Amino acid sequence: PFRLSEKSLSLKPSATVAVTSRALELQRQGHDVISMSVGEPDFDTPPHVKEAAIRAIQSGKTKYTAVGGIPELREAISEKFRRENGLTYAPDSVTVTSGGKQALFNAFFALLNPGDEVLIPAPYWVSYPEMVALTGAVPVAVPTTPESGFMLDVDVLASKVTPRTRMIVLNSPGNPTGAVFTPEILQAVAELAQRHDLMIVTDEMYEHLVYDAAQVSIGTFAPDHTLTVNGASKAYAMTGWRIGYAGGPRGVIAAMNALQSQSTSNASSISQHAALAALVQHQETSQFIDMARRAYRQRRDTIVRGLNDMGLKTPPPQGAFYVMADTTPIHQDELEAARIILDEAQVAVVPGTDFAAPGQVRLSYATSMENIQEVLRRLGTVINR
Ligand code: PLP
Repeated sequence: PFRLSEKSLSLKPSATVAVTSRALELQRQGHDVISMSVGEPDFDTPPHVKEAAIRAIQSGKTKYTAVGGIPELREAISEKFRRENGLTYAPDSVTVTSGGKQALFNAFFALLNPGDEVLIPAPYWVSYPEMVALTGAVPVAVPTTPESGFMLDVDVLASKVTPRTRMIVLNSPGNPTGAVFTPEILQAVAELAQRHDLMIVTDEMYEHLVYDAAQVSIGTFAPDHTLTVNGASKAYAMTGWRIGYAGGPRGVIAAMNALQSQSTSNASSISQHAALAALVQHQETSQFIDMARRAYRQRRDTIVRGLNDMGLKTPPPQGAFYVMADTTPIHQDELEAARIILDEAQVAVVPGTDFAAPGQVRLSYATSMENIQEVLRRLGTVINR
């Protein structure tokens, strides 16, 4: 009775679904499965943020807002970009969206035409190529290697530029690699973008989760060519609140708002007031971020050491909360390796297939130290079987 659209049929079925459903099935059967596959902080949203949301509900801030977000929040984001990133975006060069994901979606639809090519360093977060392809544009992977800690090689990037290239997508600190690109690399990418008149869409969702490196915003090098995407999800443990935002050239922001006005209208009014508290009460927020960063760092050190010690090569990531482990000692094929790890160790990991990371799996360390130690113990028994 119905016929699905070509666009919906074009969405790539996720290779990870099989592992996820198997994990759920094992859990249902009563197995004690530890999930290392989640992409969200295990911390609760800070109290000052929750209280602001409760106040917003009680004072009737429960109606439609301006499409691009309440003025106070856009003002606070503009100030945040200035304070933390050295970026100058006036409040009308800022838009608030339902999660960082919608900011990216709006950006790609505002900027891309069918046939345009978009350069994306790989391994990449799966949603970039999928969203880009939905617009009719063509995602082009720019490979990086585990040996270099997945650092972007600007010569390789430049070699992928063609007359059809329109955009570069950057994600530093990155999911799934944890790589943090150096200021020198970012400057070289900015120059490349200026030379070829390419737009840079930089996803800085994990900016606060950096350990040995300094996070720099590429927009400081090429402001006219950069759209900076960020959000509340990872920084303030607010994944469920669905607040993302972007800053960039006013014309791009206006086009993103036009798209949003015909789709979701605005991000949740209550969540906007919560995010406002996270940004304005920034001392309390900083304390929360420092606490989380310290915990992630300890966990990262433990998991990286543990995996390398048992022969699963894992470059130490400088940011975010993921590691990429080489699972070829378990099985050449990462899907098979993930299945073995699940069946024999009852640990759920994400095979690198969807990230363009063959032979590797992604483990998230946004979980307790106890879980991490237990996961290492269980993986040890798989290796020594
Ligand atoms: N960008 C990256 C790199 C992510 O890993 C995620 C979430 O997993 C997002 C964006 C989306 O975040 P949000 O919850 O704000 O939509």
